[in-house]
Amino acid sequence: MSNPDVIQSGSVAQFHYTLRDGAKEVIDSSEGREPLTYLHGASNIVPGLERQMEGKAVGDKFTANVPAAEGYGERTGEGPQPVPRSALPEDAPLQPGMMLQAQSPEGQVVPVWITKVEETQIFVDDNHPLAGVDLSFEIELVNIREATDEERSHGHPHGPGGHHH
Ligand code: ZN
Repeated sequence: MSNPDVIQSGSVAQFHYTLRDGAKEVIDSSEGREPLTYLHGASNIVPGLERQMEGKAVGDKFTANVPAAEGYGERTGEGPQPVPRSALPEDAPLQPGMMLQAQSPEGQVVPVWITKVEETQIFVDDNHPLAGVDLSFEIELVNIREATDEERSHGHPHGPGGHHH
């Protein structure tokens, strides 16, 4: 018998978190916001955190240390590359940290992140901004329920904190 009170594959769980980097600087936090909602076993969150959520119960507070390789991955490639602004829509709001959809030479759509904005060019990096960063999540688990069949087939939660569509 599976125990619905702990996180397992097919659980929809909600948690509050504070995310710190290897130097213990706060990167992000759900404080003052709705808790994060995810479907366990569907890769909605980074693998190293998902693995450490397994078996946890409502009310549990713990710290999950996630090395970069199990977080947003190690940095790869050549780093930020210049793109002329003329190659971008004129009214596009461009800010460091923003994600854009680029097309690879093979024609695939790949995400890239803006690292720098200059007058005539911007720099984009195909590494996630947190690639190569060791992560430390302070977690407080606030809710667990079973996913609906629809959520399981979509691979993400619906309702409060989930997808609306
Ligand atoms: Zn859906």
